[in-house]
Amino acid sequence: MHYLIVGAGLWGSVMANRIASVLNQPVTVIDKRDHIGGNCHSALDDETGIECHRYGSHIFHTSLPQVWEYISRFSEFTSYQHKVFISCKGRVYTMPINLSTINAFYGKNFRPAEAAAFLKEEIARDAVAEPANLEEKAVSLIGRPLYDAFIRGYTHKQWEHDPRELPASIISRLPFRTTYNANYFNDVWQGVPRDGYFSLFQKLLDDPRITVRLNCDYESIRAQLSSDCMVIYTGMPDQLFNYKYGELEWRSLRFEWETLPVQDYQGTTVMNYADVEIPFTRIHEFKHYHPERQEPFALNKTVICREYSRTYARGDEAYYPVNNARNNELYARYAAEADKTPNLILGGRLGAYRYWDMDKAVADALHVFETKICPRENRS
Ligand code: UDP
Repeated sequence: MHYLIVGAGLWGSVMANRIASVLNQPVTVIDKRDHIGGNCHSALDDETGIECHRYGSHIFHTSLPQVWEYISRFSEFTSYQHKVFISCKGRVYTMPINLSTINAFYGKNFRPAEAAAFLKEEIARDAVAEPANLEEKAVSLIGRPLYDAFIRGYTHKQWEHDPRELPASIISRLPFRTTYNANYFNDVWQGVPRDGYFSLFQKLLDDPRITVRLNCDYESIRAQLSSDCMVIYTGMPDQLFNYKYGELEWRSLRFEWETLPVQDYQGTTVMNYADVEIPFTRIHEFKHYHPERQEPFALNKTVICREYSRTYARGDEAYYPVNNARNNELYARYAAEADKTPNLILGGRLGAYRYWDMDKAVADALHVFETKICPRENRS
């Protein structure tokens, strides 16, 4: 059987690698963009040599041993540990909310147990018994004052939905701590590829049985496919089915890039902006991902980008699914349609309509390979 994978992002590239190397089958991977790697793509900036994540910061982190073992076959990872700061009403705090944030915000010097007891009272004032949405969940974890300062405005800018209309799972991504641990993630393994994401994807796709075609839109080749070609589609399902049940809602992003004549602009990789008066959600400064690259790091220039969230319109890049009840129900109809279509599998963050981190995309690709692709191949 010949396999066509639509989309050279992480899920699609892992799938291509497995089909070629384990099943010894030919795979064609197409992507409408001019590069592999999907939204994980990174490239060296021509002027400064600084490695820039073209679609916003990507840090690989996981607690899944099988995912770490698998991805480490294609790249070494640095010891980079992600730490984020947040600007709120003219002051800078640690994000995720930890003991440092709590003490600075309330002007206290709490120890962990004191902070926990204090927050318990804050939470008791407003929390509901069974939090059913993002706002209720956040208030039940940190109380209303911290929610109002650090979550409400940022979330509104990011999603353009009232946080009461958003799923609690979005806020469960963030740790909240009453310790000084400032790590953005709780995971066991973490880092960025030592030689960049581009090199990682090159290695994933480096197999004589894999053909990559860039600048190639699925619609332009769809009519030429033979009926026994297995299509593994990682794009937007509503678009694939010509929006027959309606449009899924997505969030898109706009990046405003700037090269500045300073060695260090903000002292860290990511600075979030909580206040709604500031139109962007965060600023990325990419040289801080690779302090070990001494030359670009020491250069008296730096590359930053401001990230603006916006409602997706057809033709934009889709970044985030909006997993509320309406959209999840609509997605289920498209997924059922895909299940009924012979030789079609949906996958990836867009195809599965899931707000996955990179490790979850890898885990899912490995799982779909084992449970859907291998059994078919054994039957044929
Ligand atoms: N969030 C927030 N304030 C922050 C950072 C995150 O309110 O400073 C909320 C916001 O709703 C966001 C969610 O937490 O959409 C998840 O944040 P994360 O950093 O995981 O988002 P990503 O990096 O995937 O955009």
